[in-house]
Amino acid sequence: MNIQKFDIAICGAGPAGSTCALALAKSGLKVALIDKSTFPRDKICGDALAPYMGQVLGTIDPKLKELYSSFEQKEAVNTLRIFAPNTKALDLSFPIQGAICSRMDFDNFLFEQATKYPNIYPLLGQSVKDVEATSEHVNITLGDQTKLQAQLIIGCDGTQGIVSKKLTDNKVDLHHHSAAVRAYYSNVTDIQPGSFELHYFKGLVPGYFWIFPLPGNKANVGFGMLSETTSERKVNLREKMQELIESVPSIKDRFKDAERLTPVKGFGLPLGSRKITISGERFMLCGDAASLIDPLTGEGIGQAVISGRYAGWHAIKCFEQQDFSAEAMLPYRKMVYDKLWKANSVRYRVQRLITRFPWLINSITNLGVHSKLVRKLVAKLV
Ligand SMILES: Cc1cc2nc3c(=O)[nH]c(=O)nc-3n(C[C@H](O)[C@H](O)[C@H](O)COP(=O)(O)OP(=O)(O)OC[C@H]3O[C@@H](n4cnc5c(N)ncnc54)[C@H](O)[C@@H]3O)c2cc1C
Repeated sequence: MNIQKFDIAICGAGPAGSTCALALAKSGLKVALIDKSTFPRDKICGDALAPYMGQVLGTIDPKLKELYSSFEQKEAVNTLRIFAPNTKALDLSFPIQGAICSRMDFDNFLFEQATKYPNIYPLLGQSVKDVEATSEHVNITLGDQTKLQAQLIIGCDGTQGIVSKKLTDNKVDLHHHSAAVRAYYSNVTDIQPGSFELHYFKGLVPGYFWIFPLPGNKANVGFGMLSETTSERKVNLREKMQELIESVPSIKDRFKDAERLTPVKGFGLPLGSRKITISGERFMLCGDAASLIDPLTGEGIGQAVISGRYAGWHAIKCFEQQDFSAEAMLPYRKMVYDKLWKANSVRYRVQRLITRFPWLINSITNLGVHSKLVRKLVAKLV
């Protein structure tokens, strides 16, 4: 049987997978970058990119940071407007600009950068169907029955990815999971320049409705909630988002002349408020596959990029030492949780607190409107 051999197989070429490939680009290792989609491809998301994105990419290659900052398809933002249930707005300014960029463009940008290198072999439109890790190597079967063999597999295949399913006992836990829907609109009015918005409503906290501006007078509009709350209260997210747009006075006027450009689509968010198995013999998991999303804001692209970078760097060490045992993978787990766990734990506590006492958002907003210090503290938190 014809088996294609690689040093490393990366399953999934989203932000985690492409960044992992970038971290391996100059290693000389032969890397398969496998994705079931072809690029450019869409991903259901709010499209908000963290302010530190350029800096993280710069640690892989300073040229990447430059390319990212000159990448034009993104809308720069530096103010988060939080609308409390009492409709008061709190403007939180950030010293470094973040950005809103459609995933079609951002993910394709990373993918194109990664696949410029001759040792990164893109295998697109190919779904990984089976993964088996032995003490000798990893066997991978694609949808068309193509067989691959690698020393190491890196699971960057998102929520409920096949690598985690086949190589760990990780299970979805609705207590640490959110679900959200989004659609693209044009002509939403009254978006303040440089601002992106979160709207909280009575009875829906800690869920929120968002309006994130995109270039060309477009906006990413969405609504998300904790999965346990959604299922307890039997909330249909699509219907709820439509209801908010049509019935909330402060929102409906802004959508009077708006046009919905895409269907409302939903997807799951595995939250980083619990630790799961993210490494083992011959494998590491990154991004959503490793359940790393910020439990308060739903932000996961930055976490995907950070963990993808660590996995790439750590894989190089494993090859230097020719050690792919579960113990040899543990420093990767440590790096990821040392970097992300503290912040995720604090945000999880805040998420629980506002779930129990939703009126806190009104109180903090009322205080923050008058106090620079409160605004600074809240900005630091989110
Ligand atoms: C509605 C919504 C809004 C969000 N908003 C934001 C936001 O504004 N900002 C933010 O930072 N985060 C946001 N997130 C979270 C963010 O989308 C994820 O954290 C991020 O996409 C994780 O990147 P990833 O590379 O780990 O996974 P993904 O982006 O999901 O990439 C996984 C890749 O793996 C491929 N794949 C999957 N299975 C296989 C297989 N078997 N074989 C081959 N390929 C496979 C997929 O095709 C995909 O390309 C949001 C999420 C949702 C659902």
